[in-house]
Amino acid sequence: MALYKTKEGPVGYDASKCMGCRYCMAACPFRIPTYEWYSPTPRVRKCIMCIDRVTAGKPTACSESCPTGATIFGQRDELLAEAHKRIAAEPTKYVPAVFGEREAGGTSVLYISSVPFDKLGLPTNLPQTPMPHYTWEALSHIPAIVTAAVPLLWGVWWITNRRDEVAEAEHGTKTASKSGEDHA
Ligand code: SF4
Ligand code: SF4
Repeated sequence: MALYKTKEGPVGYDASKCMGCRYCMAACPFRIPTYEWYSPTPRVRKCIMCIDRVTAGKPTACSESCPTGATIFGQRDELLAEAHKRIAAEPTKYVPAVFGEREAGGTSVLYISSVPFDKLGLPTNLPQTPMPHYTWEALSHIPAIVTAAVPLLWGVWWITNRRDEVAEAEHGTKTASKSGEDHA
């Protein structure tokens, strides 16, 4: 797969496996993946959460280089605690919520903000259920549909076949009686 999830959290991207279908752009509820529309060899682009650094045990480059501590890196529960601590410390400054705490089941990147999240372009109407749950819901019904479809198709075949047999029998009866009339 071109996009893949790592156990550390980041979702990576392997351009050599990407066929450019852009389904990921349509499917991402956060509208994160973008496309190199004007490149002769276009790739999907997104933050890969510095996957090489993170898997090597280092923080992301942006958090390491951020001089103010606005962007920080760490374990999710520690980041959530820090986010709520910052909101509680300045309740008039921040929107009283952490974006990503529950959205789509909870995300690896979390935001606090002094302006409403929708003004930042973040979707605020997401369910709290993880997205793969909906995929599994749809896929899990396929065996039942296939099982139900086989008797249904068999029933359709039986009715069609029976109709042909009746038509053939009636045609044979008519032919026989016509032949009888001709001989009379
Ligand atoms: S465009 Fe997106 S969905 Fe399509 S192959 Fe590439 S990464 Fe996968
Ligand atoms: S530097 Fe920050 S924004 Fe850029 S890929 Fe790394 S984590 Fe993402």
